[in-house]
Amino acid sequence: MRALVCERPGHVALRELPEPVPGPGEVVVRVESALTCGTDLKLIRRGHPKVPFPTVLGHEYCGRVARVGEGAPFAVGERVVSGVSGPCGACHDCRGGRPNHCPTAFDHAVWGTWAEETRIPARVVASTLCRVPDALSSDAAALLDPLASVLRGLSRLPDPSGRTVLVLGSGPIALLFTALLLRRGAGRVVVAGRNAARLAAHASLGAETISARESLGPQVLVRSGARGAEIVVETTGALEVAEEAPSLAARGGMVLLFAGLAREARLAVLAHRVHYDEVTLAGSFHYTPEDTRTALDLLSRGELPVGLLVTSESSLEKHPFVLERLSRGEEMKVAFRP
Ligand SMILES: [Zn+2]
Ligand SMILES: [Zn+2]
Repeated sequence: MRALVCERPGHVALRELPEPVPGPGEVVVRVESALTCGTDLKLIRRGHPKVPFPTVLGHEYCGRVARVGEGAPFAVGERVVSGVSGPCGACHDCRGGRPNHCPTAFDHAVWGTWAEETRIPARVVASTLCRVPDALSSDAAALLDPLASVLRGLSRLPDPSGRTVLVLGSGPIALLFTALLLRRGAGRVVVAGRNAARLAAHASLGAETISARESLGPQVLVRSGARGAEIVVETTGALEVAEEAPSLAARGGMVLLFAGLAREARLAVLAHRVHYDEVTLAGSFHYTPEDTRTALDLLSRGELPVGLLVTSESSLEKHPFVLERLSRGEEMKVAFRP
């Protein structure tokens, strides 16, 4: 089968690989839609501590079961989607209701969906693999992974209804935040970004937009009645943006550091904002199996702007063109049709 392999940082090639064979409890899926994601682009650029090269890229997918391992409760031909990780269900974190922190969840993960076929580990089959309703397109279903992480992020925040929310960044994750925050009754969603086409997508959902090419502080004050945003969501992963976020929050507000920062990154924030102004800093990481079920339910109800998120499709062969367009911010997400 053909697959897009990252052989070393910056080097992606279409390769012929052996067909995956499902072990006990596993299934092999014939991929119908595999989405691009910022995580893949980061992996191509600088590698990942948990993913040794060479590696098949991609983790967001929807496809049909092609082969079934012993005991896996699925049938050939069923259309399925899953989350990425396989929490064990038995450790301290899993039993404590935090399976997103299960220390072995990513040892049993779905990696390698930019390929004709991908193997779904037994733990993923057991925890999050589910059948896709007929009415849901494969591109929409493949949004399960990013949507579930955004749901986890929202669960860390107070109820947004009636509040002013500032979203830092305008990419696909930011767009999922915008869509869900507005659905949940946020008073105002203000999105700060640099890419005019992406900002226009947010505006089409009802968000206000401001330019991150200019100083954010004064623009946020104007749009928040001089108080600052009651909720600030950081989606860019840029250290300087994360450092500025607390200064944009209202007294008593909350900052969600959604995007990952490098392991050794340190934040310099004004301590008085945290102490005197009671600004809370929160993080969120990955998602739980429960979040994936909520995500599939939301997608099935057709309440997410799939057309604004998946902006084009491509064969695996055209990957250099796709990666080029993504790096220039000319696409939100591209669906590979392997
Ligand atoms: Zn992703
Ligand atoms: Zn566990």
